[in-house]
Amino acid sequence: MSASNVAGSFNVAKFGGTSVANFEAMSRCAAIIENNSNTKLVVSSACSGVTNLLVELANGVQDKARRQELMAQLADIHNAILDQLADPISIEKEVHSILDDIASAAEAASFQTSTKLTDHLVACGELMSTHILAQIISERGTTPAVRFDIRDVMRTNDDFGKAEPQLEDIAALAQEKLIPLCQQQVVVTQGFIGADSEGNTTTLGRGGSDYSAALIAESVQAIGLEIWTDVPGIYTTDPRIAPKASPIPEISFSEASEMANFGAKILHPSTLVPALRHQIPVFVGSSKAPELGGTWIRQEVESSPLFRALALRCNQTMVTLRSANMFHAYGFLAKVFEILAKHKISVDLITTSEISVSLTLDQTDTSGGAPELPEAARLELEELCSVDIEHDLCLVALIGNNMSESKGYAKQVFGTLEDFNLRMICYGASPHNLCFLLNESVSKLAIQKLHQELFE
Ligand code: ADP
Ligand code: ASP
Ligand code: MG
Repeated sequence: MSASNVAGSFNVAKFGGTSVANFEAMSRCAAIIENNSNTKLVVSSACSGVTNLLVELANGVQDKARRQELMAQLADIHNAILDQLADPISIEKEVHSILDDIASAAEAASFQTSTKLTDHLVACGELMSTHILAQIISERGTTPAVRFDIRDVMRTNDDFGKAEPQLEDIAALAQEKLIPLCQQQVVVTQGFIGADSEGNTTTLGRGGSDYSAALIAESVQAIGLEIWTDVPGIYTTDPRIAPKASPIPEISFSEASEMANFGAKILHPSTLVPALRHQIPVFVGSSKAPELGGTWIRQEVESSPLFRALALRCNQTMVTLRSANMFHAYGFLAKVFEILAKHKISVDLITTSEISVSLTLDQTDTSGGAPELPEAARLELEELCSVDIEHDLCLVALIGNNMSESKGYAKQVFGTLEDFNLRMICYGASPHNLCFLLNESVSKLAIQKLHQELFE
């Protein structure tokens, strides 16, 4: 069979961190893969908690004892799984050599951090977990499996921490290197990571394995993408915040994209872009309980309710710019955006009044934490206007359909929130959402109240 005959005939299945947390969890993934002979490509995250430990090391840990403690935790997580393998020898060698690499990179980071070194370090989680998962699948004896280093296909630019995939290169490399491998066996590869044209390791941003899986599915023209996680589908809101949240059996690409963009952690914000481009249906389910079913994300869905879901995104930074000269003047906003563009600052939400503009800063990179307005940009903006920066804010988004054309519901929404201090409201630009900023300390309560009022 030629490589091109194989393209388009199989599924890509992605397993998140909790799904590959330990031997039992990985064995459940193996059973899911075995139960669907269409699944030929498996994209895995790092074992649960590993990326956080690596990010701490990458941020530079000067205290040697703390560094050793973090290294010990990393070794424990992986050794506990290796101990349960029937034939651990070769895999043990690979994993231990990655652990050695982490120790030296972490020492280097304790002297001098860099985004390039951070990506080199944080990628190690996926590099280890995929060695082990491929071995577990193989040892079960029913499905031959091989590990593949996705850095040979996932070509990105060198924007470390939030690298941009280079789609044409990825498609060509997948055709050449990945599709032929999928003919004989299940291929297990890494989410989250890639490489630039010089071979340096890059990452797509925290939670980026979903995005990787979608990009890989697109590059091999997969017939389906399965996202296996720790909940049986996409819920009306994060079930950890509102325990009465319920799973949504079917949702459109646009609604699910809005949810992901507005912080529903269940999907990385960019995940659905490649899936939509190639009309690949996406399934979200729980690897702990696959029998519960899950959510199908498709182009066409049967129902388009006014209220679909609530999402919460914290760590928001709001910048308010005030200029006395803005009153009836033109060119102020153009100047503001010229400065932001010059400093490569991506703006998320924006509201304006006659003399002021408030905006929130986008964050996608691997470092975590709230995005900061760079000092140079602040100084330049201050020549134009006053600059106020606020942290500890969260964005609540109500997602639905035809929202800009429906009457009366704003009263229900804002009535529910009458005791809350809303800092910024965005409404009207998209028919699919209404969103607002409020203080972090009350954001979960706002979600709970809205969920009770609109969904329960
Ligand atoms: P994975 O490691 O599998 O990628 P994540 O932790 O990134 O898993 O995403 C799954 C989590 O997303 C769930 O445990 C849940 O707490 C959270 N979540 C946020 N919003 C939603 C939602 N609308 N529906 C379901 N889960 C959600
Ligand atoms: N392991 C990475 C993270 O924790 C990527 C992912 O799991 O999606 O962010
Ligand atoms: Mg995730």
